[in-house]
Amino acid sequence: MASAQHAAGTNPARLGPLRREETWQRLGGETFDLVVIGGGVVGAGTALDAATRGLRVALVEARDLASGTSSRSSKLFHGGLRYLEQLEFGLVREALRERELMLTTIAPHLVKPVSFLYPLTRRVWERPYTAAGLLMYDTMGGARSVPGQKHLTRAGALRMVPALKRSALIGGIRYYDAQSDDARHTMTVARTAAHYGAVVRTSTQVVGFLREADRVSGVRVRDVEDGRETEISAAAVINCTGVWTDELQRLSGGRGRFRVRASKGVHIVVPRDRIVSESGMILRTEKSVLFVIPWGNHWIVGTTDTDWNLDLAHPAATKHDIDYLLEHVNSVLATPLTHDDIEGVYAGLRPLLAGESEETSKLSREHAVARVAPGLVAIAGGKYTTYRVMAADAVDAAAVDLPGRSQPSITDKVPLLGADGYHALVNQADHLAAEHGLHPYRVRHLLDRYGSLVHEVLACANDRPELLKPIEHAPDYLGVEVVYAASHEGALHLEDVLARRTRISIEYAHRGVDCAEQVATLVGEVLDWSPETVKREIEVYRARVEAERESQSQPSDEAADALRSAAPEARAGLVEPVS
Ligand SMILES: Cc1cc2nc3c(=O)[nH]c(=O)nc-3n(C[C@H](O)[C@H](O)[C@H](O)COP(=O)(O)OP(=O)(O)OC[C@H]3O[C@@H](n4cnc5c(N)ncnc54)[C@H](O)[C@@H]3O)c2cc1C
Repeated sequence: MASAQHAAGTNPARLGPLRREETWQRLGGETFDLVVIGGGVVGAGTALDAATRGLRVALVEARDLASGTSSRSSKLFHGGLRYLEQLEFGLVREALRERELMLTTIAPHLVKPVSFLYPLTRRVWERPYTAAGLLMYDTMGGARSVPGQKHLTRAGALRMVPALKRSALIGGIRYYDAQSDDARHTMTVARTAAHYGAVVRTSTQVVGFLREADRVSGVRVRDVEDGRETEISAAAVINCTGVWTDELQRLSGGRGRFRVRASKGVHIVVPRDRIVSESGMILRTEKSVLFVIPWGNHWIVGTTDTDWNLDLAHPAATKHDIDYLLEHVNSVLATPLTHDDIEGVYAGLRPLLAGESEETSKLSREHAVARVAPGLVAIAGGKYTTYRVMAADAVDAAAVDLPGRSQPSITDKVPLLGADGYHALVNQADHLAAEHGLHPYRVRHLLDRYGSLVHEVLACANDRPELLKPIEHAPDYLGVEVVYAASHEGALHLEDVLARRTRISIEYAHRGVDCAEQVATLVGEVLDWSPETVKREIEVYRARVEAERESQSQPSDEAADALRSAAPEARAGLVEPVS
């Protein structure tokens, strides 16, 4: 234990159990420049932005890193073809620049190019119209690291996507965007912030604001694992809580400058062999677009877009949502998908800005940042792709409350943990595989999840070669990945590992239930769980899966929400709602 303690002490990016007490003491004992509320991609990005400017920063997350919207997106770093159509060139350029930065500098291990077929359905005008848009897409924002558009005849498009029915298209255009495992990306941003000195703590909920005269001077937090509370003093607080923004704003006692409303988006996951295709697809729907996105041995199909006014932590997909997705994707597939093909379902909430003025529609596409009170900044809206820009804007907005002069943002030059050395390791994958007795394919898979941190991951199996075996009912993952999730990646509950550090909960039809015992036992060894805790974690997880399955057979949001929100919480000490 002593050497492990030492290791934790010298590796600030190790978010394991050994750090929890130390970070609690630091939160209560130090004075920070900034406290960031919310461990989604915007909060994690804000903590990284602040830390790399030389600021003392604390990041507190009520549940798990990325447990809100940031693990439930379509997982694309994209410019957004739709915005081009709406002539939002600035937004598209900014997003494409971010996509390029992620692919080349910031996270080449986690963000990968992905191709999409745009099936053409109308003669004459559609091809030149779409091509002109894609030409801008190919050239704006310095997008150099993905291939440009390629035009296809109907026969060519059908060769690329044999799953399409002939009548579904008259030709096609292939273009590229980028994708990432959002939950792992957000967690890596948070660990990188910790690496640069941020105090990062999960299961730490903000339950009150501190005030000094008219200023916000910090927050009161509750450890939702054991119920204790402490106060964090800071020159400024940044509210990065996505769809919880208004709740935190109410808690602060002041009036916000903008409001956030939630829009639900549902995705389904189906096996790769159910859609024969070399490329993803983007399909037009009446309201928006539907993506079919390659995802390992699966396809992700989504998404829907409907208002949501119910439980923010556990948005529930209904039968209606799933039928909508099946109906739209089946309209182009030669062999339709059925409910039996579905391996996983997930629902997320878009934090959309709801302004009170005529600016509403403009606001809803961009992010908003405001100093809502002296010492309190709020930021929301935008999209995953532009989190880094949002983070820089949030820290800039807080600068007036900071004691010294603040440096400009430098995160465009800060690779995430694991990026450094990644490309060389890809070339050396065969050697690494031989060294550890693994298949080179497996090592490449690990490299795309951990980058050069792979050494740290594999070191966890040094004295325990059995950890290099696949998880019995989820063979895409090794035992050592589960151990590492708990020892280094801040996972505190079985659900954190099955739903976010791995994506077992959406990638296997059993949704994690069949491997819950094996995974809980491995996590329990690291987190020192008693046999009762192991049992409880498994029970809570099973109840979650059961509730999700049942909610997905309900016709309405209300019925689905009632079933889903009745399931027990892994973090029993959460205060919901907090205001
Ligand atoms: C269906 C869907 C598809 C999408 N697809 C894409 C896409 O392909 N590409 C793209 O760029 N964008 C996409 N987006 C948008 C993108 O996912 C979001 O903009 C982004 O994830 C929002 O991040 P966030 O950090 O603002 O919010 P969140 O990730 O929700 O983080 C907020 C965090 O605050 C925490 N919190 C709340 N209250 C408290 C408290 N009292 N104390 C402490 N912590 C608290 C929550 O637990 C949560 O973790 C999609 C969104 C949806 C819903």
